[in-house]
Order: sequence, then structure tokens, then C-alpha cells
Amino acid sequence: MLEELYQKVIEKDPAQPEFHQAVKEVLESLEVVLDKHPEYRKAKIPERIVEPERVILFRVPWVDDDGEIHVNRGFRIEMNSAIGPYKGGLRFHPSVNLGILKFLAFEQVFKNALTTIPMGGGKGGSDFNPKGKSDLEVMRFCQSFMSELFRHIAPYTDVPAGDIGVGGREIGFLFGQYKKLKNEWGGVLTGKGIQYGGSLIRPEATGYGAVYFGEEMLKTRNDSYKGKTCLVSGSGNVAQYATEKLYQLGAKVMTLSDSSGYIYDEAGIDADKLAFVMDLKNNRRGRIKEYAEKYSNAVYTAVDPELDYNPLWNHKADCAFPSATQNEINARDAQNLVNNGVFLVSEGANMPTVPDGVNIFIDNKILYGPGKAANAGGVATSGLEMAQNATFSSWSRKEVDTKLHNIMISIHAQAKAAAEKYGEPGNYVLGANAAGFSKVADAMMAQGVV
Ligand code: NAP
Repeated sequence: MLEELYQKVIEKDPAQPEFHQAVKEVLESLEVVLDKHPEYRKAKIPERIVEPERVILFRVPWVDDDGEIHVNRGFRIEMNSAIGPYKGGLRFHPSVNLGILKFLAFEQVFKNALTTIPMGGGKGGSDFNPKGKSDLEVMRFCQSFMSELFRHIAPYTDVPAGDIGVGGREIGFLFGQYKKLKNEWGGVLTGKGIQYGGSLIRPEATGYGAVYFGEEMLKTRNDSYKGKTCLVSGSGNVAQYATEKLYQLGAKVMTLSDSSGYIYDEAGIDADKLAFVMDLKNNRRGRIKEYAEKYSNAVYTAVDPELDYNPLWNHKADCAFPSATQNEINARDAQNLVNNGVFLVSEGANMPTVPDGVNIFIDNKILYGPGKAANAGGVATSGLEMAQNATFSSWSRKEVDTKLHNIMISIHAQAKAAAEKYGEPGNYVLGANAAGFSKVADAMMAQGVV
């Protein structure tokens, strides 16, 4: 029956391969859950959960610094509001399309359910490329984007955040325009600046959370990060703070990347080197190649489109934290990781491993934390930002970090327990899907056919 549903999903929207991939992974995990809960089948929960509650698609016209007019496409996918307001990031990247955002919104539903905070799932963005644009161009684009989005979002309806290409600068411009149009200050976006309603630790939360999740997996083998060697991909928000936390916990991070190439620094990326990367990426908006120009012992390797594997994943190491984008680890990369001794993969990015790669991790019984569990710390801390906004309060760094840490411990415990309940101990893919789905399904059952 689930195979039939999967085929229907493909037939309805044949040009959305990433969405099909995300749906397939969840449906495969659900067979065992539905066998134990026939009431979910009867209520057609799987059929309902793969269909967005609402999709908003709009034109975003804007004017560049030379007076030229451009037109981009804006999206917001309101996937599921059974357990709370729609919640999920905005992505600005030229590759953005409906299928990619539907996959992200679908994953978000289960991820948010695991956080223990009442948040539904959504995602949005645009095919706009902020790279190479001036601050004023980015501002004009964000204002145009919000001039349509503002009528669909509100603190108890839909609360977007950042994702690829949407950081503090973009959230600031989006929030300013929302406030002007609504004449209302509200917690309608998360990832805000600390001066205007943001939460301490929100920038750090996804990277720190992925490291905390990995730490819980290590504990199941009485192990820790002390002295471990790590591979991290990406050099944006998630990669930077995963690197910071790993360094603090005594591990050595040897790689970072961007879409042009990667650096390998055998000596490890320490606090000073990371400060250089943060300035390079967040302020100067430069390329990771400059790291190897500054630190001569590091080696830079440009992306080679002829290769069928990514050499970043082909170094001897203990742990890997993919933190760039979807499908960045193919089956050959996954095999290379295992062959090189990597025994822990905690996904900072969303769906960074292709399905055959995931199977390689599971078959080899490595500690594998899928994105929807391992990177949930970001959205969880967004939930904490919403709580602070709703009560006009602001919590200390320590308070937020402790709550984040406890949430990651809880997500790990839920995924671990569900994997055991359904007969595959240690399979966090099954565990995260089963636990997240059950919570949303129960809420949908309680609310009737809506
Ligand atoms: P970001 O700050 O924009 O950084 C993205 C990084 O990934 C950059 O180094 C970028 O390089 C690289 N990248 C992006 N697309 C790529 C591609 N197609 N090929 C190779 N490299 C690529 O974004 P982020 O917030 O760190 O997000 C990274 C991942 O984490 C995404 O999968 C996102 O969905 C996921 N995530 C983020 C959060 C969050 O709170 N931010 C929460 C949960 C999950 P270039 O600069 O060259 O493009």
C-alpha cells in the first residue's frame, strides 16, 4: 500500500526528485509503525501527510544597483500544522524550486515533532542568489519578498527562519519590512538579531546541536570526542558552529568547504583559524580557498566536476559532519568514509546522504544520525526564541544552551527508543521517522479530517 502511495506521489509531481527521495525514506520506515497502528492506515494519515496543507508561490520583482529590473520566484510551503504553527527556514539559492522546498518542508514536520516544542512544519525561499550582490540589492530583494509573504505569516500561524543564503543580514531586512507593513512587532521570524528579539545561542544552535547529538551516540559506546579527528563540509552557519563545539570538546576538525572546493588542514582548525573563517564568510563574504592562502600548511582542492566522488570524504578520520547541502555524500563517498575509519556521521545539513549511502552506513553499523534528528537543534532554539518573544523575556546564554543540550539528549533518546521498539536497535533513521511520525499522526487523529 505504501508503495502504491509512493507511486502516486511521483505521478502527481514527476519533476520533484528530492521530494520523492524524502517521502520514500519516511514511507519505508512506516511499514512497521502502521502494522502496529492500523488506525493510522484507516485514517489515511500517510496519504494526508505527504500533501502540503498549502503552497504559496509568488513573483518577487526587484531593482539592482544599476537600475535593472529582475524577477525571482518566491515560495512558502505550509506542510503541516497539526502540532503547532508552521515553522521552518527560508532558503535563497539559485537551485531552489518547488520540489526542493517540499522535501525540506516534509522533513521539517518530523524534525519539529522530535524537538518536544509545539511547532508544525514549513519551508520557503527563492531562487534568488545573494552571492555577489550588494547589501542594498539584498535589502531591496528581501523587502520585495516580504511585501507578499507578510500576509501569510504571523506569530501563531507561520514563523519562518534562515537556511542556506539567509543569515542575520537577510532576517534583519525581512523583519524590518514585515514590521513596517503590519505596524506590529511580533515574533514572526526567528534568527533575529539579539537587539530586536533574537535569542542567544540561535546562531550556534544547529551546529552545536549536531555535535551534541553525536556525543549522545558516542555515549552508547562509552566513547567521547576527546582526540577524535573530524571531517566537516560547508563553511556557513552550521559548519562554523559544529567546528567550534568540536574544538571545545577536544576533537580536531580538519576540513571545511564551499561550492568551489575544500581545505584540508591536518593540524586542525583551532579557535584563531575559525575566527578567520567566520570573518571571511560572514563579513568579507569570500571563498574558502583564502584559508589555504592564509595558512600555508593547509591544502586547497578545487571541485573537479569529472570526479564521481568528493575527495573531502576520502581522508582518514573518526567522525563526519556533512553541513553544506542535500545529496553531498553519494554511495561512493559513504563507502570511502567507512573505508577510512569514520564510525560516526551526524548530519548538520538536511538529507546530505543519498539513500544508497545511508544503507552503507546502516549496514556497517556505524553511528549514523540523520539530519531530521541531528540538526533539529536549530529549529528547537527557534522555538525557544518564540517562547522568549511571547513572554517578552530574554534568557541567558547558559540557560538557552542548557535547554538546547537537553533537547538534543531528548531527541536522541526518542529516536533510540523508537528504533528499539520497532526491532532495529541503533537504526536512528527508523527511530527518528517512527517517533516523529507517531506524534504528528496522533495529533491529526485527534483533530479529525481537516
Ligand atoms: P549557509 O550558511 O548558507 O552555508 C551553506 C554552506 O554550504 C556554504 O559553505 C555553501 O557554499 C555550501 N553549499 C551550499 N550549497 C552548496 C552546493 N550546492 N554545493 C556545495 N556546497 C554548497 O547555510 P547553513 O544555514 O549553514 O545550511 C547548511 C545546511 O544545513 C543546509 O542543508 C540547511 O538546510 C541545513 N540546516 C540549517 C539550519 C540552520 O539553522 N541554519 C538548520 C537545520 C538544517 P557556497 O557559499 O559556495 O554556496
